Amino acid sequence: MRFLTLFILSFNFSFSQEINAKLVISKISEKVYVYTTYNEYNGTLFPANGMYVLTEKGTILIDTPWDTTQFQILLDSINIKHKSDVVTCISSHSHDDRTAGLEFYTQKGIKTYSSFQTYNLCLVNKEKVAENYFVSDTTFQFGETKIQTYYPGKGHTEDNIVIWLEKEKILFGGCFVKSIENDNIGNIADADIKAWPKSIENLQNKFPNMEIVIPGHFKWSDAKSLKHTLKIIKNYNKTQRKLLRQTKTEVKK
Ligand SMILES: [Zn+2]
Repeated sequence: MRFLTLFILSFNFSFSQEINAKLVISKISEKVYVYTTYNEYNGTLFPANGMYVLTEKGTILIDTPWDTTQFQILLDSINIKHKSDVVTCISSHSHDDRTAGLEFYTQKGIKTYSSFQTYNLCLVNKEKVAENYFVSDTTFQFGETKIQTYYPGKGHTEDNIVIWLEKEKILFGGCFVKSIENDNIGNIADADIKAWPKSIENLQNKFPNMEIVIPGHFKWSDAKSLKHTLKIIKNYNKTQRKLLRQTKTEVKK
């Protein structure tokens, strides 16, 4: 009986540990961290990655938590862990896994940014909007740290940008890049499947020396996730063509 109680207790403990892991922070380099929050998508709990960069001018947040309960907790965690305040936040496209916290952070006195394209899409789709926008690729300078935005072309969405850290050779690909962890093309409601491969090529040519690539969802790796994204798009196109052929054959019958 005692054994059983212990077993139940430890089971409960590990179970609640998992449930409580609403914010996971992972170190990528001395100054760069990935933070992951979770939200329900198609009935299952789905992870979303954002990034933050420690600079001598404060912490720069790339995207906001998807889980709306984690906006303040992320700020507090960064403060406790690094004794640093978040001063700027840049969103990489208009979907809510990138923008949900923009207004919250603006109210906290954080300078929030997106591209002009993203800014407009947020207004149209009634997503939270950044306070500021940039109209073309922009390099932010925070002390010694350069944070570069780049628009590779349409892909996951028409407005997706990526963030490049030249010194660290880290690319935050966001939802433009698919994780090698799975083969799912994900949410393509606003995607441009036809333009995506060329946009990937643009990105590969722009930053040929990337060492770590952070996708919007699931685990990160090196630049092979870009090739993996291409493969997923090709497979998707193949399946679509097959479906189309089947429909045509059925119509003939
Ligand atoms: Zn996404």
